[in-house]
Amino acid sequence: MNNETLIKNLRNVPDFPIPGIQFKDVSTLFKNAECLKIMTDELYAMYKDKGITKVVGIESRGFVVGAALAYKLGAGFVMCRKPGKLPADTRKESYMKEYGKDTIEIHSDAITENDVVLLHDDLLATGGSMKAAYNLVKQFNPKQVFINFIIELTIEGLNGRAVFGPEVEMTTLMKI
Ligand code: AMP
Repeated sequence: MNNETLIKNLRNVPDFPIPGIQFKDVSTLFKNAECLKIMTDELYAMYKDKGITKVVGIESRGFVVGAALAYKLGAGFVMCRKPGKLPADTRKESYMKEYGKDTIEIHSDAITENDVVLLHDDLLATGGSMKAAYNLVKQFNPKQVFINFIIELTIEGLNGRAVFGPEVEMTTLMKI
């Protein structure tokens, strides 16, 4: 889809948080009213006929457009958070990161078997964190799960897309 306005307004921060990483700073898309509208409207057009009942945003950059989209779709919004942040009973999923293990959580009563879920985050790199979120959402046994990212990194050696099998429909707004 690669919208020119989005690409033009996305800030690249070299060597953040560690040397060698080209950090794609979506805060420059969130603060720009036109970009925020483009992202929300494009996603609405893509998902309006899918029967989505819950948008699940991944902490924290997945919360911004995820919540705006949920509002437009007439769906609920669910936070997928780092451990210890959610106050009530949660379901958890652990996964391996480059250095050690990480865990994510969703409130146990946040998703039901009647839901059609759209999982949303800002950026696909290795796909590890979204895969864990996908496995966590599947624990709730919803009717269907879709996955979306704003940005798909296509640099050599990274093939985040390959992490998701043909059983799940995955989309991205831009490939860079
Ligand atoms: P991954 O699990 O490897 O797909 O990493 C995706 C998560 O890490 C997303 O939540 C991104 O916000 C963050 N991330 C990874 N690489 C970058 C990058 N180059 N620029 C911005 N965010 C990144």
